[in-house]
Amino acid sequence: MFALDVITHSPTQTYQLGQQLGTMIREGDLICLCGELGAGKTTFASGIGSGWGAREIVNSPTFVFVNEYSDSRGRRLYHIDAYRLRDAADSQSIALDDLLDDPHGAVMIEWAERVQEVLPNEYLQIDLVAIDDQTRQVKLEARGERYRQLLETIVIHDA
Ligand code: ADP
Ligand code: MG
Repeated sequence: MFALDVITHSPTQTYQLGQQLGTMIREGDLICLCGELGAGKTTFASGIGSGWGAREIVNSPTFVFVNEYSDSRGRRLYHIDAYRLRDAADSQSIALDDLLDDPHGAVMIEWAERVQEVLPNEYLQIDLVAIDDQTRQVKLEARGERYRQLLETIVIHDA
């Protein structure tokens, strides 16, 4: 298993880490974000969207299941917030397989632990933990070879 453990000291640092990852995201990639309310999942996801090249700002989609962003080349980035999903039957309603089958799409999921049953074997697992008011632990863990390669390109800048 390949993992990176990063401490961020501001929302901006978390956003920038997401941005760096976002530049590397390809079609078929799945990014799973876990952590309590306020841990920084949406901040990180917004950074991913920015680095990926989303033409619109990626807002928290807490009140819809799937938001879709596109870039100037017609690629798509799906942003799922699984907060309101309660069981496996609900999980089916997000049609994760269909989203992952989109040859021009990538997917990121907040509260991914709530849809564990429908996740494929391989994805990038990101766990965010609030250490204090401004400090977050961001653990990035590769589940599969593709994600190990992806993590190897990440450069951690000291604060
Ligand atoms: P989540 O989606 O996990 O509920 P959000 O990204 O919406 O979390 O909110 C994170 C909150 O924590 C924001 O209010 C942000 O300003 C604050 N925050 C403080 N320090 C950090 C940090 N280092 N990284 C990310 N967010 C931080
Ligand atoms: Mg959120």
